[in-house]
Amino acid sequence: MIRPPGFSGAAFGTAASGDFRVDQQRRKDISNDLAIPSDWAFVHQVHGAAVVLATRSGKLGEADAIVTSDPGIPVAIATADCVPVIVEADGAVAVVHAGWRGAAAGIVSAAIAALEQSGHSPRRAAIGPSIGPCCYEVGTEVADLFPGYVGATTWGSVSVDIAGYLHEQLGGLDVWRSSECTYTSDELHSWRRDHTKQRQVTVAWLPRD
Ligand SMILES: [Zn+2]
Repeated sequence: MIRPPGFSGAAFGTAASGDFRVDQQRRKDISNDLAIPSDWAFVHQVHGAAVVLATRSGKLGEADAIVTSDPGIPVAIATADCVPVIVEADGAVAVVHAGWRGAAAGIVSAAIAALEQSGHSPRRAAIGPSIGPCCYEVGTEVADLFPGYVGATTWGSVSVDIAGYLHEQLGGLDVWRSSECTYTSDELHSWRRDHTKQRQVTVAWLPRD
């Protein structure tokens, strides 16, 4: 697990952490390691901009961000190249799944708005491992959606920096950002590299204190 420094309820899983969606024993193990409840809330991820408020654990329908203010309900998303984002707020936490579609749809802004509208001021955010502009080759129809974040892959084709774009969307928050690229790291799943069904898990929770 990657634990961003200074965060009280944030962990980015690696390939070795396992996929909690298909492996409940791994979820229990991870929960034990993190000292959090093992009944998590998750969603059917659809690359949109919908945010759900978790008031119970289990599957909460179609969305790409989950907010909770309940210390008993860790919230989780799964990625393999898309960008996992955690936003810690006063009395609440959000976890976000953002690929280029979700980023363009405004999923990070929607999660921030959901926190604010429920009375929780965002304090800091962590951006986990995703496919970097070094490797995220896209067509011009995608690149055109992210002016200012278009670059080149290491092999010279057009790429975009989705994590960089999301960093900007996080406005004035303190942001920690992973430097890992899923495509080139042996320790992370990459859909682009392997067309795998496996995902790494990102979990966020509100500590009891
Ligand atoms: Zn890369």
